[in-house]
Amino acid sequence: MAHLPPIVKNPHKVLRGIAKEVPSDEILGARIQELILNMRTVLGEAKDGVGLAAPQIGEALRVFLVSEEAEHVDTAGNKAESDEEIEKRKKKEWNYFVYINPIVKKISRQRIAYPEGCLSIPGVFGIVNRPEKITVEAFDEHGKKFTRGASKFFARVIQHELDHINGVLFIDKAEELLDQRHG
Ligand SMILES: [Zn+2]
Repeated sequence: MAHLPPIVKNPHKVLRGIAKEVPSDEILGARIQELILNMRTVLGEAKDGVGLAAPQIGEALRVFLVSEEAEHVDTAGNKAESDEEIEKRKKKEWNYFVYINPIVKKISRQRIAYPEGCLSIPGVFGIVNRPEKITVEAFDEHGKKFTRGASKFFARVIQHELDHINGVLFIDKAEELLDQRHG
């Protein structure tokens, strides 16, 4: 397999641009299919990642992935996990939901503040206030249009990735930032 692209780190200008739409007749083409495959592999290897947007591997296109692990976080709620359960979760091969050319259809007025991090800003975390629910229309990797409503953590990941394709990073919105890079 071709050499995997590295995750682009902040500051980099590809993280700050408005990404371009994928022409819908190109979704099944080699370029986009290879991009999705690369994104799956990169996200699969990123231990703490639950989402990845194309600009994060240097492609200024409106494509992102959300891991099924985000759904798991919502189902598990605030239940404490044993070390064994955490280990199992980290090793599991999650499915990834692919969003191409996403459009926000509905967003809740109710908001939740919750900690967030980003694979492009390692070691930095912050509390971000975001709408609790969102409904998005997008194309999947087969070129099929779908609409999906999400809430809680899954909705948060979708919004974080939507921000990425619009050149916005969570550090722009975070109320408190915690930098763990220097101890
Ligand atoms: Zn991110």
